[in-house]
Amino acid sequence: MGYKKAIYRGAVCLMLIAFFALLIRPAAQIKLMTSATPAKAEPRVIVDAGHGGEDGGAVSADGVPEKGINLSISNDLSDLLTVFGFSVEKTRTDDNALSDDGDSVKARKVNDMKLRLEKFNSSPENVIISIHQNKFSSTKSKGTQVFYSPNNENSQKLADTIKDSVRSLLQPENERLSKKADGNIFLLKNTDNPAVIVECGFLSNPGESALLVDEGYQKEMAFSISTGFLDYYHL
Ligand SMILES: [Zn+2]
Repeated sequence: MGYKKAIYRGAVCLMLIAFFALLIRPAAQIKLMTSATPAKAEPRVIVDAGHGGEDGGAVSADGVPEKGINLSISNDLSDLLTVFGFSVEKTRTDDNALSDDGDSVKARKVNDMKLRLEKFNSSPENVIISIHQNKFSSTKSKGTQVFYSPNNENSQKLADTIKDSVRSLLQPENERLSKKADGNIFLLKNTDNPAVIVECGFLSNPGESALLVDEGYQKEMAFSISTGFLDYYHL
């Protein structure tokens, strides 16, 4: 990416953050000050960076695993949601998996998933946004796709507002619909809270893979997801 483009992206992102911080933070504070019982329970957002540690997840053609991209977008998303006034908890804050307990890679992965699920289910006020990257056999597939848990009707609403936000801000050509998760996605199957997995893009597509490792694009992706969450919250 060109130097000017990077500056432009950074500036646009900062302006948007400043704009929303000014616009939304006072609104949230006014609501809290003027109403003893908020019209809507304040959600606690669980931001889940997929994989970590020895589990790198999907890997691009030039060897970049999704775990670091997931962490970077999750950190940006958490910062934005915090600025917007929401309570946020991250499932991981560094490259480590949640558990190194177990004699095999599989056993450690199972323990990691159990600990993530515990965080997902720690409160009925939790709303879960899990960040991942996609991979497919064809190098042509591209674009964000959002999967939602079948257990709570709000999951689809959240998936749709995030999908719409990413499309309007970043990917106008993206026609993908949100998709109900089948029973194979353990974490979405085993939570009753609103929960989505955002597959931000395809590491198997060289063009999209180059974007996904770019810090400016990661911030734009995080911003698009955060405004999708705001749309969901204000529905
Ligand atoms: Zn993944």
